[in-house]
Amino acid sequence: MRVAVVGAGLAGIAAARELVASGHEVVVFEKSRGLGGRLASRRADGGAVLDHGSPVIAAPAGSALRALIEATPAEDRVDLPDGVAYAAGATRLPKILAAGLDVRFGVRLAALRAAGAGLELGDEQGNTHGVAGAVVVTAPAPQAADLLARSPEPPERVAALRALAYAPAVMVLAGVALAPGAVIGPVAGGPLASVRRETAKGRADADGVAPLVARLDAAASARLLDASDEEALALALPALAAVLGPGAPAPAWAQVKRWRYAVPEGRLDEEAVNPPGSRVIIAGDTVTGARFGGDDHHRVFDSGVRAARRVASIPTAEAVR
Ligand SMILES: Cc1cc2nc3c(=O)[nH]c(=O)nc-3n(C[C@H](O)[C@H](O)[C@H](O)COP(=O)(O)OP(=O)(O)OC[C@H]3O[C@@H](n4cnc5c(N)ncnc54)[C@H](O)[C@@H]3O)c2cc1C
Repeated sequence: MRVAVVGAGLAGIAAARELVASGHEVVVFEKSRGLGGRLASRRADGGAVLDHGSPVIAAPAGSALRALIEATPAEDRVDLPDGVAYAAGATRLPKILAAGLDVRFGVRLAALRAAGAGLELGDEQGNTHGVAGAVVVTAPAPQAADLLARSPEPPERVAALRALAYAPAVMVLAGVALAPGAVIGPVAGGPLASVRRETAKGRADADGVAPLVARLDAAASARLLDASDEEALALALPALAAVLGPGAPAPAWAQVKRWRYAVPEGRLDEEAVNPPGSRVIIAGDTVTGARFGGDDHHRVFDSGVRAARRVASIPTAEAVR
């Protein structure tokens, strides 16, 4: 059967791998230009790599994700107390795990139209991408709701997805000329929730400038989500200077990155949101939940595997080849 997966984050990649392993023809649609979703990294001017999404990958011992990480060795992997990181950036693991998958980048699926026993896949430009017998949706719940609202799915299912709110995150990426062993002080009170020095992930300072990633706390992120970069930096940089302590130089550069849907405020019941036999299957942190500083990535990954297994229970499965 041809199966579409919406989203090339951890859940989508897990679902696609499992579906391919069970013999399905799988196409992953990803609206952005890269793999990983909220596992995201970027290279700043000067070459420093910064993870501006989740700071580490939480894959505790005993989890399927951990076993997979260990079975796919990467010499730049760094084990930190709260998870796994890669010197090349957080997208390194998704790139390893998605090897060989058919991923169509830059395609935002926007409609699933009934077509015989399957669903015709429509994108936001009005193009169609064939018919699939099942669609695994791993987008954050509000985006999943937008897609299901333009599908034959019942309105109750869309409403359930819409009811799940997400906390935003405004991230400030900065390069500061810190001494190699300089200790970053604790973050006490708002507006910053955390500050990390990315060189702890096996990455070198770029020209003596340490790459730092700071996350604004929930209140400041909500306030500044739609504000200008200047407004976000005006709040964040003095707070960063206070954390770095007296004498720390001003940042050589700073950038802002925003996540409208960073972590869900709760989760939906996986069984309730995935009625038996439905051709549209919801996976990802919509059904697992996730928290800043949490150890949820392995659960997100497992949800993708379970979604793939639900495809086997779809009665129309044989009709769309
Ligand atoms: C700043 C930040 C810090 C975090 N910290 C932690 C932490 O410490 N611990 C923890 O466990 N978790 C943390 N998380 C959450 C964790 O990263 C996520 O729960 C997890 O990565 C979600 O994976 P996913 O595959 O479910 O979704 P995503 O990674 O969001 O993947 C979904 C993909 O779907 C794509 N997409 C959406 N709509 C469409 C569409 N219509 N068509 C095509 N593609 C579409 C998106 O572009 C995206 O790539 C954090 C997240 C952020 C942003």
